[in-house]
Amino acid sequence: MMNRVAFVTGASRGIGRAIALKLCRAGFEIVVASPEVENNESVAGEIRACSGEAMTLNLDVTSPESVKEGFAKVIKDKTRVDVLVNNAGIARDGLAVRMKLADWQLVLKINLEGAFLCSQQALASMMRNRWGRIVNISSVVGQAGSVGQANYAASKAGLIGLTKSLAQEMGSRGITVNAIAPGYIDTDMTRGLPEELKQKMLASVPLGRMGTPEDIANAVKFLASEEASYITGHVLAVNGGMYM
Ligand code: NDP
Repeated sequence: MMNRVAFVTGASRGIGRAIALKLCRAGFEIVVASPEVENNESVAGEIRACSGEAMTLNLDVTSPESVKEGFAKVIKDKTRVDVLVNNAGIARDGLAVRMKLADWQLVLKINLEGAFLCSQQALASMMRNRWGRIVNISSVVGQAGSVGQANYAASKAGLIGLTKSLAQEMGSRGITVNAIAPGYIDTDMTRGLPEELKQKMLASVPLGRMGTPEDIANAVKFLASEEASYITGHVLAVNGGMYM
């Protein structure tokens, strides 16, 4: 049987990179999809070094054309997309009363609309094959809210609604759709936070440490596996107990 193909957005760094490497080790062919060519090539190199198959795509999830073309290329080359991980995401923090409309719109566009556009494209292939897995990377912030992150929280809560709706629409086609809600994970996104805030966040984690990108990748690997075939519409918290 052919290897299954996993398409990971925002795979050039951080959590997306860890997911790409983990799924490669689990036997998937990987599509590394992010806007920056060099970053994508470096992850693809790591995948090939552990004798996995990697295809790179310079894909901007805010552009419907870029998304359409990207998926068309994958279908042409690999004939299928079996797993989609909507991981691309950014934060543009600020108190809501002072938040610039452009920051609200950009965060919603990348984090939520991007996942919708990629899901639409991936579902066409998954429906043909009557098998598929979509994993949306939401956040604890989408569940609990967060001061200074109204745009980010709305986008991540939106992903949960998208997950549950797609799960209901796609259940009869053998396609599962789930979300992961990571807590406080050590990546470029959190590295720049003020030390005081980091300590405060850490104090709220019962397991007493930050999460690693690998912690999230382990959960994605499970949800993408055959073993998770009776789980859909679920939001899996991977947060060290920070929010229960
Ligand atoms: P990083 O900032 O390390 O990486 C973000 C990734 O998204 C990069 O690969 C980046 O590509 C890509 N990206 C940004 N804009 C676009 C775009 N328009 N189209 C396609 N790809 C894009 O973030 P993390 O690894 O920390 O976060 C990954 C996901 O996990 C995000 O959705 C984030 O919200 C979520 N998350 C993170 C948490 C954390 O504590 N770190 C906690 C909860 C959720 P490029 O390299 O080209 O910039």
